[in-house]
Amino acid sequence: MPATGAGSPRFLLRRLREIMADGSSAQQRLDKLVALIASNMVAEVCSIYLRRAGNALELFATQGLNPAAVHNTRLRSGQGLVGLVAEAAEPVNLTNAPNHPRFAYRPETGEDPYKAFLGVPIVRGGQVYGVLTVQNRAARQYDEEEVEALQTVAMVLAEVVASGGLFDIAELDEPELRSDRPRMFAGDGLCEGVAIGTVVLHEPRVRVEALIADDPAAELKRLNTALEEMRGAVDAMLNSSELDLSGESREVIEAYRLFADDAGWQQKLRDAVRGGLTAEAAVERVQDELRLRLARIEDPYMRERLHDLEDLARRLQKHLSGDGHARELPEDAILVARSMGPAELLDYGRDRLRGVILEDATATSHVTIVASSMGIPLIGNVQGVVDSARSGDTALLDGASGELHLRPVRDTISIFEGRRAMRAQRVAEFAAVRDLPAVTKDGVRINMMINAGLLLDMPNLEISGADGVGLFRTEMQFMVGETMPRLKDQIAFYKQIVEAAGDKPVVFRTLDLGGDKILPYGRWDREENPALGWRAIRIALDRPALLRYQVRALIGASPHRVLRILLPMISDVAEFNEARALIDREVERARLLSLPQPRQVLVGAMLEVPALMFMLPQLLRSADFVSIGSNDLMQFIFAMDRTNPRVSKRYDPLSPPALTLIRQIVRSAADADGDVSMCGELAGRPLEAMALIALGIRTLSMQPINIGPIKMMIRSLDTREVSQFVERLCGRTDHSLRTRLTAFAAERGIALK
Ligand code: PEP
Ligand code: MG
Repeated sequence: MPATGAGSPRFLLRRLREIMADGSSAQQRLDKLVALIASNMVAEVCSIYLRRAGNALELFATQGLNPAAVHNTRLRSGQGLVGLVAEAAEPVNLTNAPNHPRFAYRPETGEDPYKAFLGVPIVRGGQVYGVLTVQNRAARQYDEEEVEALQTVAMVLAEVVASGGLFDIAELDEPELRSDRPRMFAGDGLCEGVAIGTVVLHEPRVRVEALIADDPAAELKRLNTALEEMRGAVDAMLNSSELDLSGESREVIEAYRLFADDAGWQQKLRDAVRGGLTAEAAVERVQDELRLRLARIEDPYMRERLHDLEDLARRLQKHLSGDGHARELPEDAILVARSMGPAELLDYGRDRLRGVILEDATATSHVTIVASSMGIPLIGNVQGVVDSARSGDTALLDGASGELHLRPVRDTISIFEGRRAMRAQRVAEFAAVRDLPAVTKDGVRINMMINAGLLLDMPNLEISGADGVGLFRTEMQFMVGETMPRLKDQIAFYKQIVEAAGDKPVVFRTLDLGGDKILPYGRWDREENPALGWRAIRIALDRPALLRYQVRALIGASPHRVLRILLPMISDVAEFNEARALIDREVERARLLSLPQPRQVLVGAMLEVPALMFMLPQLLRSADFVSIGSNDLMQFIFAMDRTNPRVSKRYDPLSPPALTLIRQIVRSAADADGDVSMCGELAGRPLEAMALIALGIRTLSMQPINIGPIKMMIRSLDTREVSQFVERLCGRTDHSLRTRLTAFAAERGIALK
């Protein structure tokens, strides 16, 4: 196909724009469109199929097939060649279509004489809206340029259909495709809070008017300049890192740079611009293809890598627009995105953000942990929200239940306003107990600690009135950065944390990487079972320099203080002792060099691996304290992946095996004159915390937001009564003891808010 002139892709796009802008009816415009494409591509047939309810693909317009088949021919997804295109979400290019095993002859269309077939999906945001086809009587192969051209038209068409710009989508009677109706989504509530606000798309979609370039040569220049700038910025970022570590980290840098330099990716972008798209639209188109691939990939390692490419595409869009985050946010912004990195969320700041909605996030995603630190409600696992939401839509979200309403009717808004008021009232009630002691009715004092990981968590210590930081997840700082923090950055950071805590203790957990906690700049070999793989202390013992540098930084940040270090994922006493020896060497080093030193260094172990439970008395001879990490311990005890929504709620920690296990841990620690605390999510849930106290746990570390509710529960509790009750429950065979515990609490007037 020639590059310019009547048969060129650019001419096609220009005419397409004119058709979109003319005032005729939707059907007329679709009819003109198929006629235009057929003549432009010298095809005897051009047809548009759009997805209808139940996934059927309906013939909406055709040039060349029997006009009576329009709105009558329907194919299920997967049926016929058109169905194959929709199912595979990829072009299908055939010289002799009737020979293909998936060819389905539909007599009403009269398509049997056509041999050559080219079908491309009409895709937007990774979702297939329909199929665009051309056919020729003679057997022929459509060349790459023709496939490209048809894909580009399909992209524009998708954008137009989805935005209601060409077709009144209401006429489709397809709720999925209508963008004006109220919609409700049931996601996973990951960070509590009720929000009412205005949708802001994290990756704003290119407006239809801005899809087609007036001057492709100038557009290509813009793209090249933006690519250059972006590569320069990535290089600068990587070069400025001055990593302490060599070898492996260098490979990491190279891998990241490779993405930015990927010639195939850049070529695709340039081809799309040469075809007549604006640079922004070209990035969007190439990303659409990528997202479709992403949806099919299950390998978490590869998904992370493709997320990197998404990240680069976003950077490129920023360079094209001059500046990405200069975007003006509304006062009550609710961010909607497929996925988001923790640093990206931090970039938005807290002032105008009311909530976050993500398609791809679970309770342990980094972005979730950061949102929780920022006190912003977040829901995850909300499938299809990006394609349904439009900038400026009203959104209501409940971060506890996971409920989301887009474009809600007035009644729903008032229900949410009621919920928000109720929540505010509860927050006020919790604030009222801030200065009261966490003591049960029978006089047992419970230590209330918070979990933290970033500097912005630290004010919560004061706000919540907690006794200290029971778990400081140091890996968070490593995950939000773009490069590995250097020794002096680490010292400065830990100093700030220690100073922010004042007289209150902070338990620093050493790097707990691996599993689902992947560094953006790290190189990770694919593992079959990452949760059971090379993680946490295992990495530290295999790469002792990493642990020693971190301990050196912690020592440097804690002169004259008590330094508390917690080691994650310890499996046996020998492992603990080996790590402790490394810590002791660092303490000794500071002494020999006469550097300022902590007053005392206490080293504890996380109890997350079941094997360690059987060595508790011996462990307590070497360890100064032990903290139960229920998130991991429960996943290992029940053999259920904590990040897999299908199984993560299948077993209840409030059940005989789990409670018996905790009882056993507490007893065994007591026999060895040791003490165990709890810092997993269980500690922050009132009913669960009640059971833990019943079993003898006296230190609980939780998200700061939970301090109020847990303290209210504690102040209404009698430990003797609840201990007797839970003791009896341990002998039962129920799948879950939740109902019995809830009934007990209700009977005794125990506050469970
Ligand atoms: C745990 O496993 O309970 C824990 C606190 O560690 P993390 O959630 O960071 O794995
Ligand atoms: Mg853990």
